[in-house]
Amino acid sequence: MTQQREQLVELQRQLQQRLAKVQSDLQSLKEADSAEQAQQRENDEVLQDLAAHLQKELLQLHIALEREAQGKYGVCIACGDDIAAPRLKILPFATHCQHCAH
Ligand SMILES: [Zn+2]
Repeated sequence: MTQQREQLVELQRQLQQRLAKVQSDLQSLKEADSAEQAQQRENDEVLQDLAAHLQKELLQLHIALEREAQGKYGVCIACGDDIAAPRLKILPFATHCQHCAH
């Protein structure tokens, strides 16, 4: 396993843990019987946004891992150019270069 792949797998594990935590928080919010309904709904929305965000990152990470297996990690899916190293450092699961991401 390459160091790159190890990093991606580790990141995947962390994201999955965070997602599991958010989903269990959502579940306990649903089960909570509180008078503060409005506040609850607000929290609920924040958590749902976070869950959606994490799921999106996990999907991108999954694609990045598949591309890594094909030896194409760090290559933009859209234009085929190399994704800049600083961008990959911040977004290890990036599948698009800065140009194509916009
Ligand atoms: Zn591109």
